[in-house]
Amino acid sequence: MVGGGVGGLTAAAAFARQGVEAVLIERRPAFDIPGVGLGQPANALRVYDTLGVLEQILDTGFSYDRMYLFDPSRRLIVEHKFLLGDDRVPAFCALSRLQLHEILLGAAERAGVEIRLGVTVSEIHEEPDRVSVRFSNGEHASFDLLAGFDGIRSQVRQHLYGTAFVPRPSGYGAWRVQAPRPDYVRGMEFLQGVGSKTGAMPLSNHIMYLFHIRPEAAGANFAGQDQVQLFRERLVQYGSYVAEIAASLTPDSDIVYSPIEPLMLPWPWCRGRVVIGGDAAHTFAPHLTQGAAMAAEDAFVLAREVLDDDVPVEARLIRYSMKRYPRCAFVYTFSGQWLHDEQSVRSAEDLEAARTEMMANASARIGASDRILDGPI
Ligand SMILES: Cc1cc2nc3c(=O)[nH]c(=O)nc-3n(C[C@H](O)[C@H](O)[C@H](O)COP(=O)(O)OP(=O)(O)OC[C@H]3O[C@@H](n4cnc5c(N)ncnc54)[C@H](O)[C@@H]3O)c2cc1C
Repeated sequence: MVGGGVGGLTAAAAFARQGVEAVLIERRPAFDIPGVGLGQPANALRVYDTLGVLEQILDTGFSYDRMYLFDPSRRLIVEHKFLLGDDRVPAFCALSRLQLHEILLGAAERAGVEIRLGVTVSEIHEEPDRVSVRFSNGEHASFDLLAGFDGIRSQVRQHLYGTAFVPRPSGYGAWRVQAPRPDYVRGMEFLQGVGSKTGAMPLSNHIMYLFHIRPEAAGANFAGQDQVQLFRERLVQYGSYVAEIAASLTPDSDIVYSPIEPLMLPWPWCRGRVVIGGDAAHTFAPHLTQGAAMAAEDAFVLAREVLDDDVPVEARLIRYSMKRYPRCAFVYTFSGQWLHDEQSVRSAEDLEAARTEMMANASARIGASDRILDGPI
């Protein structure tokens, strides 16, 4: 397994729990993953349940079952009750990225995965029945299967496809910062603005994260600039807790900026015994909060299909990819369209039209997506 994010850790744990000798390499020297928070929908929580860590995740995070759409002053437009989850699994549980990684790392270690930190791949050689790898530390090894869950700038993807398919700027970016959670923020919130969208996701009883999505130049990098000032200027039309958080930002605030770079690779996402999953194969606009969830699903389905029967491994990998492509393509299209539609609100008239449309249709639209995502994988 190449990559120790949500996808790689889940895949390694899933294989190892079924008795497979699994080696995971992670480029970082430590599991000190930066990032803010991850909302994990029921479909991801069901995968984590198969690894025996559902309870730990629910005890750590904040569970919620609703999404609220507001105007920039936080006047309610729509309250949507998610059609996700069941008696065992809530619709969503959100927690910090670091906490989720630590829980999955624990699952992988308990399952017996061999984890090598600070290591990457230097060369991949495909042989008829094996994949041999030279690591960045000079060591060699050969494997039955090489799975790249190495994120949006995947080296394994590059091995398979060269540079034909790489993430490209969408023209939008996401700003995020953690903040104290007001008691009344009890679900996912979107505040539709003019020319941007802002919102919040609760992460624990005390903490939430504030996010803000807007047009940003391709290649924008705000490191070394006055990010507090830039973030405040961008939030100026918003009221309620957004205005309070904007006023409370200081140079010590951990403001995170990420470009939004959707990517959907044509299937089959594999060649011979080399395969990819997670952000290496598909990266979405964040609106459905399904990126890590799809990485976890990929990992689960990969282990299930590869270990399922006696047809050649190559055929099992094609089957994995065929099962995953339609679902990921749905998330890619739905979330990309949502991004495009909300960012097309450019005037007070557009906002009024969007409010009327959302009141009529948004809950049914999100509900239709919920039913698909809550279905079998
Ligand atoms: C603004 C924003 C908000 C989001 N919110 C959510 C959300 O609420 N819920 C959700 O489910 N998803 C969300 N996502 C998406 C989510 O972050 C990703 O989809 C998810 O992290 C993908 O997991 P992964 O394991 O495929 O890749 P990654 O998490 O990127 O992990 C890849 C790992 O591979 C390692 N690596 C890279 N290259 C190599 C190499 N050559 N050798 C060894 N190791 C390597 C990296 O260091 C990293 O640890 C959001 C994304 C953004 C941008």
